[in-house]
Amino acid sequence: MVSSPFKIDHNRPLITVEDCAAVQAVLTSGWIAQGTRVQAVEGFFERLLGGGKACAVSSGTAALYLALRAMGVGRGDLVAVPTYACSALLNAVNLAGAAPCPVDVDAASFNLDPRALSDQAAEARCVIAVHTYGADAEIAAIRGEGRLVIEDCCHTPGGSGQAGIQGQIGDAAVFSFYATKLITGGQGGLVWSNNREIAGEVEDYRQFDCRDAYYPRFNFQMTDIQAALVESQLKRFELIRMRRKEITTAYLENLPKGLSVQIGLEDRGRIPYRFVVITTDVSVRDALRAHMDRAGITCAVPLARHELLHRYLGIDPMKFPVAERLVDTTLSLPIHLCLSAAEVGHIAATLSTFKP
Ligand SMILES: *Cc1c(COP(=O)(O)O)cnc(C)c1O
Repeated sequence: MVSSPFKIDHNRPLITVEDCAAVQAVLTSGWIAQGTRVQAVEGFFERLLGGGKACAVSSGTAALYLALRAMGVGRGDLVAVPTYACSALLNAVNLAGAAPCPVDVDAASFNLDPRALSDQAAEARCVIAVHTYGADAEIAAIRGEGRLVIEDCCHTPGGSGQAGIQGQIGDAAVFSFYATKLITGGQGGLVWSNNREIAGEVEDYRQFDCRDAYYPRFNFQMTDIQAALVESQLKRFELIRMRRKEITTAYLENLPKGLSVQIGLEDRGRIPYRFVVITTDVSVRDALRAHMDRAGITCAVPLARHELLHRYLGIDPMKFPVAERLVDTTLSLPIHLCLSAAEVGHIAATLSTFKP
């Protein structure tokens, strides 16, 4: 068998010469800690979300923890989380001293299912709702009668859906700039809130040094080095959004009959973080993965069974039929910005020749 001339990673950050110059400027400026570049990133998110207050922090997990803490969620509180999500959610809830309660997700959007929420976590005081891979979570239905809601926008900053820009209507929104995300500083995160009290609490906690009165705070700051990298990428945000949409369109046009995709991928406001194909069962999924692999294309199972949050917590898997199925039937194709036109063409063509 002839080996493919292509060798395509599932994901890879695109760092341009402009990004390098922006970081270099900070390195030689004499100020590399939290400073003006961090402020610039916060300003971008305040403009993006139409006001409110943004507070940049060291990671998305720190952002989740600080948002919970600022809302007064802690000991004795139940926090509902989608079970199809990363363990960062569990870590933040546990660090806050609250009790996580996993909820099953919707088969089409992969997002926390508001109906399952009433069944599985009716008592939850707070919900962390992830806009999974960019798909718009049903925030209004999740909030219901006065639940606190954190919109987890770590997958797609700036995406929009039914209620406008994602992050705007929850009590707080969190973002991540980890290396695998759409916009990256290597590490980093951000809390945004329209509620001045919540945003103020987060900022107060982050500002641990030289305060008048002491209470235990922690250093969750982002450096200007990281912020410069984030800021530089935000300057080409529109380009990143457009390119991801172009790649998505190319794959959708070549999707063989018998395969489907996560709902809303082609919606106008959607920024695809992952291009996730849904197959009928695990054997078709594994066959698709092998088919792509033979052509030099690395695909990824976006979330494995053991990573489901109810599995980590040792809760009966029978209660989460949708998530248990998704881990068998989903495969993520590369859509990152390092892909050349030839590589995108190769991936689309390879996809089109798969026989489910
Ligand atoms: C990445 C991610 C986080 C955690 O962010 P870190 O910066 O890695 O701590 C939280 N929620 C979601 C949905 C994520 O994708």
